Amino acid sequence: MTHINENFLELQGSYLFSEIAKRRTKYIADNPNAEIISLGIGDVTRALPNAVIQAMHSAVDELAAPHSFRGYGPEQGYDFLINAIIEHDYKTRGVELAGNEIFVSDGSKCDVGNIQEIFSADSIIAVQDPVYPVYVDTNVMAGRSGKYNEAAKRFDNIVYLDCTAENAFKPSLPKDNVDLIYLCYPNNPTGMTLTKDELKVWVDYARANKCVILFDSAYEAFIQEADVPHSIYEVEGAREVAIEFRSFSKTAGFTGVRCAYTVVPRELKGFDASGNDVLINDLWNRRHTTKFNGVSYVTQRGAAAIYSPEGKEQIASLVRSYMSNAETIRDGLASLGLDVYGGVNAPYLWLKTPQGLDSWTFFDKLLTEANIVGTPGVGFGQSGQGYFRLTAFGSRENTEKAVERIRKLAL
Ligand code: PLP
Repeated sequence: MTHINENFLELQGSYLFSEIAKRRTKYIADNPNAEIISLGIGDVTRALPNAVIQAMHSAVDELAAPHSFRGYGPEQGYDFLINAIIEHDYKTRGVELAGNEIFVSDGSKCDVGNIQEIFSADSIIAVQDPVYPVYVDTNVMAGRSGKYNEAAKRFDNIVYLDCTAENAFKPSLPKDNVDLIYLCYPNNPTGMTLTKDELKVWVDYARANKCVILFDSAYEAFIQEADVPHSIYEVEGAREVAIEFRSFSKTAGFTGVRCAYTVVPRELKGFDASGNDVLINDLWNRRHTTKFNGVSYVTQRGAAAIYSPEGKEQIASLVRSYMSNAETIRDGLASLGLDVYGGVNAPYLWLKTPQGLDSWTFFDKLLTEANIVGTPGVGFGQSGQGYFRLTAFGSRENTEKAVERIRKLAL
């Protein structure tokens, strides 16, 4: 008899997006002429930048000729991409990284999901609430979560760090002992950021308590304000305690192409059962090279092209267009007297639902009265109840139309 990994039975259904799809489908079936605008998805809508396309075309041509054909590449990524990352994403921020500290991958979802494998099965994890669900679910699969408590709607062994308007969406340090702390900045779903001093509090805490911070920075490219750090390594001492995740998905329209990277500094140590130091970088390298065979050459050439002068300009224009949508949504909702957060350094807006409506009631109101689909905040965790996420990834036209429709609602 083959037994399954019972941890999987502890997973809660992918309730959020399936429930959204169900309600949307039913509404369209009942109202076939409704023109629905989706500001719910976290996917981009604009095409790949031309510099990326050109680089990918050339790379395909290289693969077509016997003398320039390439098969398996280095699992960790080609030097041309790793060096460009070091030069443009880090040196410009005063952060020095070595080539063997960067691991190119096919997406941050895999990286933030897989990283927990190299830590002990009894590690205690802390997550922000609301949270990007991948952090929680991958730890449930690994058996770290404990049982799901129906009443609390939380897992018994996970430490939840509440982020609400009351604490300006900035979590307090954990009261309990934790081993792994997932921080996401700029944050999905709240769109909020931390200053360098605020991030330093976490780095200092991790150093004092020998924890590891898993810093998801998938939305780094959207940071606009000068005082917001772009990398956790801008904080002194972070190299001893933090792993950083970055993605080309939202930065350069790579959600379908797939490319990301993870930084694991050589100073970062964990401990074996006898208390001896082990380099986390060695463990991740071993895991990565055993289970992953590298991102395609064509994709890595495309990713490296965003660091060329034209690429940089095109990326900046892409980001500007989404952030201009964010501003339109933010200003539009604020002018109606609504409490709206985020949207300044991130493509996400986090709205306090008006009239004290719960997240799903507000979802239904927006769907039926304005034909707009957003994401109920409670789907990201209990602290998201009474909040609602809108994204800036729609087209310009749809974004403006959506704000006009919301303006006409009695809120
Ligand atoms: N991290 C966060 C916070 C995200 O919101 C997302 C995607 O929505 C990802 C990681 C995954 O990005 P990728 O497309 O690189 O897998």
